[in-house]
This record gives sequence, C-alpha cells and structure tokens, in this order.
Amino acid sequence: MSSLPHVAFTGQPAYDITLTLAFAYVAAVSLAAWFIPSPYGRFASQKFGLSFDPRLGWFLMELPATLSFLFFFAQGARRSEPVPLLFLAMWLIHYGNRGFLFPLFMRVPRGSSASFSLMVVAFGWLATSLHGYLHARFFSGEGLGTHYTTDWLCDPRFLCGVTLYYAALIGNIHSDAILRRLRTKEEIASGTRVYRIPQGGLFRFVTNPSYFTELLAWAGWALATWSLAGVYIFLMSVANLIPRAVSTHRWYRERFPEYPSDRRVLIPFVY
Ligand code: NDP
Repeated sequence: MSSLPHVAFTGQPAYDITLTLAFAYVAAVSLAAWFIPSPYGRFASQKFGLSFDPRLGWFLMELPATLSFLFFFAQGARRSEPVPLLFLAMWLIHYGNRGFLFPLFMRVPRGSSASFSLMVVAFGWLATSLHGYLHARFFSGEGLGTHYTTDWLCDPRFLCGVTLYYAALIGNIHSDAILRRLRTKEEIASGTRVYRIPQGGLFRFVTNPSYFTELLAWAGWALATWSLAGVYIFLMSVANLIPRAVSTHRWYRERFPEYPSDRRVLIPFVY
C-alpha cells in the first residue's frame, strides 16, 4: 500500500501541513524577491495595478498578524498559562508598533500618488496570517509548545533570545525614526517626496539598519520561543529583506554621488 510522504514537525497533522506550506511559501518568496522588488515606497510601480496610501497599505498588510494570532490563541487550552500570556503580551507590543504606530507616524507627502501596491498587501496577508496562526497555536494549543512551563523563563535560550530580540527591536525603532525624520513637516505639507541620505545611529555603518535589526530581532524571537514558527518568520524576513537591502544600497549609490563609500549593505563591517 502506498502512502503520501508525511512531514512530522510536531505530530499534529493540521499544524504540520500548514508549516510545510509556510516553508514552501518562504522558498517561493526567496526566489521571487530577487527578480521583483516589492512594489512599495521607493520601488513603487504602477505595473502591478491598484495601490494604496502606504499608511493604509501597512495597516492592512499587518492586521492579520494581530487578528489571526488573537483568534487562534484564544481557542488554545493553555491560553491562561503564564508563558503563553507573556508571548501574547510581547506579540501585542510588537504589532502595536509595526501594525499601528509605524503606519500612523509615517511621513507621506500630502496628495502624492499611492505607493503601496495591492499586490504587496495580498501576498503580505498570506505571510502575516500564517505567522499569526503558527505562533498562536504553538503557544496556546494543546500538545504543541510543551516546553512553555515557567522553567522556560530561566532557560538560556529564552534569556538570550529575549535579550537579542529587545536590543534589536530598540535599534529597529530608532532606525525607523531616523528615516521618518528625514522629511520635514513643510515638505510633507507641500506634497514633495524628498529622499535624503540618512545619518547617525547604525546608518554610520550600513544602508539598511532597519532591516539588519529586524532580522536580529526575529532571530532572537526564534531562539526565545524555540519554535519552527519562529524559524518561519525569521526565514520569511530573510527572504524579503536581503534582496531589498541589496536593491536599496544600489539605489542610494546611483542616486547620490556623495553617498558614503564605506557604508556596507546590511551587516556592519561584513557585508
Ligand atoms: P523604508 O526604509 O523603505 O521606508 C520607511 C519609511 O521611511 C517610508 O516612509 C519611506 O518613504 C521613508 N524613507 C525611507 N528612506 C528615506 C530617505 N532616504 N529619505 C526620506 N524618507 C525615507 O523601509 P520599509 O518600508 O521597507 O520597512 C519599514 C520597516 O518594516 C522596517 O523596520 C523593516 O525592517 C520592516 N519590514 C519588515 C519586513 C519583514 O519581512 N519582517 C518586510 C518589510 C519591512 P517612502 O515610502 O516614500 O519611500
């Protein structure tokens, strides 16, 4: 009798199938992102049809991460246990920033054409819904994150992972803030889309410190949660951000002859 090959990540078929699909999606994004820069911001393109104001685009794209997480977390048998609740709080803080504050404070030139493609939102929905589901089920579902007893809070993987995650998140918020302040309120009011060379902070070393710290944060998260869901979001971020970092670095060099020649692409002193 023949049977289909079965991948047993956790032994729970529905969860394992979703994880397999999620990793297949990461593989597809890893290839596609080198050929098609995600059409938003400086790489916006009319070729891909309808676009949104980036504030709305970011909000919509990130929303499923919060909604699907809350929906599946609330159904889990372990939803009232301390470690799952701690991860819930960390999640809400993370997506409070990325899904709500970041778009709210973006400096978008008044009256400028929409620059966040529907295509990015649509593909983003798949990524963020999977992200919410995989984590929430693993945190609170029965028989999944069985290591999340209170002992986990003293485990070196948790302690190192959380330290890395928060150190990187602070760097990420700081780098995003430097970018935001590059446009003056007057330029925003007059509708001028200005790009300048960012200075200070980690920009002294790399063109893409927001991406560098984002990747470190998700690496810390994967360690702290010790989960394949964490590996998924780390790899998905690698797939998205490394090609975009390369394109962004090239974009600055082509556009600004005075661009600092010693600034690396992504990793200080390395690349
Ligand atoms: P960008 O640097 O492309 O843009 C962020 C904001 O800064 C936009 O409002 C942009 O304006 C503005 N900006 C950027 N560069 C300049 C400049 N030189 N002069 C003036 N304004 C500028 O970042 P992303 O939008 O790609 O990413 C935002 C955050 O989201 C980052 O922290 C990133 O790590 C995270 N992210 C995470 C992903 C993941 O897979 N985990 C995927 C993508 C992003 P404009 O829109 O007009 O270009």
